[in-house]
Amino acid sequence: MKNVVVIGAGVGGLASAVRMAARGHRVTMLEAGTSVGGKLAEHRDAGHRFDRGPSLFTMPELMEELDRLVPEGPKRPPNFAYRTLDRSTHYFWEGESEPLVAWTDNRKFARDVEARWGAPAKALLRHLGSSRDAFELTRGVFLERSLHDVKTYASAAAWKLLGRVWKLPILGTLHAHNAKQFKEPKLQQLFNRYATYNGSDPYQAPAMMHVIPHLEHGIGTFLPEGGMRSIPLHLEKLANHLGVTIHTECAAERIVHNGQRVTGVNDALGNTHQADLVISNADLHPTYRKLLPDLNAPERILGQERSTSGVIFYWGVRGDHPKLGLHNILFSKDYKAEFQHIRERGTPGPDPTVYINITSKELPQDAPEGCENWFVLMNVQANPDQWTDEAVATLKAQVLDKVERTLGTRPDIVCEQVLRPQDIEGLTGSWKGALYGASSNSATAAFLRHRNQSTQLEGLYFCGGSVHPGGGIPLCLLGAKIVDDLAHAS
Ligand SMILES: Cc1cc2nc3c(=O)[nH]c(=O)nc-3n(C[C@H](O)[C@H](O)[C@H](O)COP(=O)(O)OP(=O)(O)OC[C@H]3O[C@@H](n4cnc5c(N)ncnc54)[C@H](O)[C@@H]3O)c2cc1C
Repeated sequence: MKNVVVIGAGVGGLASAVRMAARGHRVTMLEAGTSVGGKLAEHRDAGHRFDRGPSLFTMPELMEELDRLVPEGPKRPPNFAYRTLDRSTHYFWEGESEPLVAWTDNRKFARDVEARWGAPAKALLRHLGSSRDAFELTRGVFLERSLHDVKTYASAAAWKLLGRVWKLPILGTLHAHNAKQFKEPKLQQLFNRYATYNGSDPYQAPAMMHVIPHLEHGIGTFLPEGGMRSIPLHLEKLANHLGVTIHTECAAERIVHNGQRVTGVNDALGNTHQADLVISNADLHPTYRKLLPDLNAPERILGQERSTSGVIFYWGVRGDHPKLGLHNILFSKDYKAEFQHIRERGTPGPDPTVYINITSKELPQDAPEGCENWFVLMNVQANPDQWTDEAVATLKAQVLDKVERTLGTRPDIVCEQVLRPQDIEGLTGSWKGALYGASSNSATAAFLRHRNQSTQLEGLYFCGGSVHPGGGIPLCLLGAKIVDDLAHAS
């Protein structure tokens, strides 16, 4: 049995704690915030409940895997509960009165696309099939193992990948790949948007992002019972059941070491927690700059471009909007110009793409009778400095105009809260408020993500969105598994 200290109770930290405790180690978690969850927080306003961060839940099998680590017995928490949805997103374009619904039944989706734009259903099904093949071929190397462990390159998954690498879209950008597959610009835009899944730009991100549509169209779309917030709350229950000690409002201040291996963690309350293993789930920047100032920081990795951030409005909205579903995207007219604006000026510009998530469509208890809870997110550059009150007011006016132009109505807002990049950074420690750590805007990005195990200090590990395999809930859960494997490799 070892003493393990996990710094940060984001989804990656919680999953790591569950895994370590299930192995029989003595685990302590230090969380700076008032409760667990990190970006997976929630807030309530005038009878509405909002998930503050993620809204899209894929790969539920990763939560089920954590449930399976907890033995049956009295007081064992029930398994994680979620529902399977029949559609992912309602897509809207200005001038088209009806949304295109992305059914999870791919044949139905392809038929609707053909009926609407004449794009052959066969071509769409082929595209989704090749996304599946690419995902299955690469997951064993890029998602489920450390890229910095030689054993990865000797694994069966690596040999399989090597033998079929020619089948993968390894050249060019995601947009170039999609433009080759489809003539219809709106269909290109629809598949380009998958770059935003990890905060990237489809006109820069590599064509390999083509693996992402498979998450929704192959694996499916799901909703946790109780909303996204129930993900960290469930992991907290598992951790408590396994005997993990969780200290909230208890920031780690320093990772203590003897030059060769970690020995403990000092917290802001003046305590030292002895440790054989330390797992940092805090963003890589504060981990090196604040917790390990005496270690050589990996400057090249820390200097990488960040993923996008977001400005989010949480609106309680009066009335029913029947064309909207759980996930909705109101596309800009010129996606390329929008991403160029984000890249060069930080904001989406006058015609933003607007993502609206309304959990009360599925979970009516999330809004009072006669109202809906709108989570309205726009992609912006991870640059906290530019989001003054004036900039937020300008964006809000652009969003309201966009909603009116697209849906023919302005939302009747009964309550409002706003989250800006600086709030994301302040609440979760995510450097510059990036949603997904470093961007994936280059073909080498996957290799430049920080490793999960330190080469400088024995016993030091890293998990979460700013390190390998990257951001997003599924990847953070997979990162926890990689840390567990590395820590227990004989
Ligand atoms: C608005 C928004 C929308 C998103 N949408 C989606 C989505 O739809 N689907 C999806 O899969 N992903 C989405 N993401 C990304 C996803 O939320 C993250 O990738 C993931 O939650 C990151 O988890 P993490 O393990 O890195 O920890 P984080 O959530 O980053 O949490 C890190 C924790 O560490 C704590 N901490 C930091 N420093 C210290 C310290 N010194 N001592 C103690 N504690 C410390 C912080 O308080 C925090 O609780 C979204 C993110 C945001 C913000």
